[in-house]
Amino acid sequence: MMSLRLPSIDGLLRHPACVPLLERHGRESLLASLRQLLDELRPGVLSGQLSAVEISPEVLAGRVGERLAQQQRSNVRRVFNLTGTVLHTNLGRALLPDEAIDAVQMAARYPLNLEFDLASGKRGDRDDLIEGLIRELTGAEAVTVVNNNAAAVLLTLNSLGARKEGIISRGELIEIGGAFRIPDIMARAGVRLHEVGTTNRTHARDYEAAISPRSGLIMRVHASNYSIEGFTARVPTSELAELAHRHGLPLLEDLGSGSLLDLTRWGLPAEPTVRQALLDGADIVTFSGDKLLGGPQAGLIVGRKELIAKIKKNPLKRALRVDKMTLAALEAVLGLYRDPDRLAERLPSLRLLTRPRADIFAQTLRLQPFMAELLGERWQVSAVEALGMIGSGSQPVARLPSAALCCRPQVSKRLRGRFLLNLEAALRALSIPVLGRIDDDALWLDLRQLDDEPAWLAQLPQLQVAP
Ligand SMILES: *Cc1c(COP(=O)(O)O)cnc(C)c1O
Repeated sequence: MMSLRLPSIDGLLRHPACVPLLERHGRESLLASLRQLLDELRPGVLSGQLSAVEISPEVLAGRVGERLAQQQRSNVRRVFNLTGTVLHTNLGRALLPDEAIDAVQMAARYPLNLEFDLASGKRGDRDDLIEGLIRELTGAEAVTVVNNNAAAVLLTLNSLGARKEGIISRGELIEIGGAFRIPDIMARAGVRLHEVGTTNRTHARDYEAAISPRSGLIMRVHASNYSIEGFTARVPTSELAELAHRHGLPLLEDLGSGSLLDLTRWGLPAEPTVRQALLDGADIVTFSGDKLLGGPQAGLIVGRKELIAKIKKNPLKRALRVDKMTLAALEAVLGLYRDPDRLAERLPSLRLLTRPRADIFAQTLRLQPFMAELLGERWQVSAVEALGMIGSGSQPVARLPSAALCCRPQVSKRLRGRFLLNLEAALRALSIPVLGRIDDDALWLDLRQLDDEPAWLAQLPQLQVAP
């Protein structure tokens, strides 16, 4: 019997099955993919393991087409965040309102007055574009914006405390996640850490005893992702500010989330506001743009004019500065805060955080039959009440009343773990990956953030759970 031969590259390139690929992906990519595939198949052809059909131009074109499509798909992909954590750091935190998306498009598409003062025709400062709004919303004297809040803390510490001591309570020496730990950031900023008090209790006299001619600043950090309860003591900001000022030291407050408005007005847990921290006497307050504020990733530094001027003169500012698209989005988001009455309708993060449980529950009831039908008899799918989280270090112990589709495998205990992991993997493999969470022998899909129900439903039939 005559041995099979792979088609030639030239023949394949001219073959009608490859012509659309040539048009879509270009000659170079197609050629590289074809060569790679033929190289992979050659041993199988030589050893006689492949059939004529398997190496027909049509089948080869199909396989190369799939590979090229795979390569062309971007790595940055939309997902459904059904984890129950609204401001999820690993999933991009806050979603921007349309106003901000339009502003980003404008900034991306056209030249703009990023550092150009249109009134005088002279060189401008990018901070000026948002300074007025932030002053209005926080009561701060002056403002500067950097890439994120970690950068804001680093820059502030380095500008105001380098080669001096930074006094901070032991209860506030926190790790935020990733590699952001207050003692390390202080060291990198050139500030010598002077820790005072204990993990659960720090008093004014502890701060007072630490103050010396070597002191450069007092720092206070929002505990963010943990909470201390029980026998605790903390010096109120106003008292700490008074103490710092008596000794000629600035008080920095890293608020982390830093809400601009009192969230209790929407029934959410209380978070300290930036305005209140400044009113209490903090000289500089730092906070994130993409946590509770609901805007783009950014670090906002607000406070006393002469301190902000010093921070802006630091050469590190140039390395940490914020991008034009971020500034455009930030201005648009801040603009929405001027109308607090309509904020919860217009700002997606606040809309999601305040979505009523009854509404989410109604949605789980609506979608439960689809999911149950799809998963079949080895799963029990129920619409249940669930508890979500704000995320990003805001109110770590507070829970958001929510509702979820709870998918529980009806198999022996031994198989349960594998079933859950297979379902999780199948949901992740959908064209818009669906991310839930595994807890208590079930996979939970918290529907608080499912606002594109048609897209979610449309792709469900593709779900293929491995046995
Ligand atoms: C989140 C957080 C940071 C870091 O902010 P990013 O915007 O993520 O860089 C710093 N400090 C506190 C207290 C935080 O909660």
